[in-house]
Amino acid sequence: MGGAGLGLRERSPRPRVDAPRPLDGTGVDQGGGRIRCPRCRWQPGREDRWSCECGHTWNTFDTHGVCPVCGHAWTKTQCPRCLEWSRHDDWYEHGGPGGDA
Ligand SMILES: [Zn+2]
Ligand SMILES: [Zn+2]
Repeated sequence: MGGAGLGLRERSPRPRVDAPRPLDGTGVDQGGGRIRCPRCRWQPGREDRWSCECGHTWNTFDTHGVCPVCGHAWTKTQCPRCLEWSRHDDWYEHGGPGGDA
């Protein structure tokens, strides 16, 4: 019988490391007031942007509807999903300190 001494080394495959990536802070529910469209209940994310008449784009909920460049205060905010304009204050879901559901 033929000699089988080829000396083949068995290579062990590299272990696949599928470490779960830590979330980048997105999708973190901040306890308290939520923001959502009063019409269609769409909730804006951190990467959503609104554009001011001055051309600046930013997340309008970071500044409560005030453009950080020209200082224009937007009392109404348009929903990018249903395209309806709603009062900026109406976007904030008021939980209320008493938790009245
Ligand atoms: Zn909407
Ligand atoms: Zn502006």
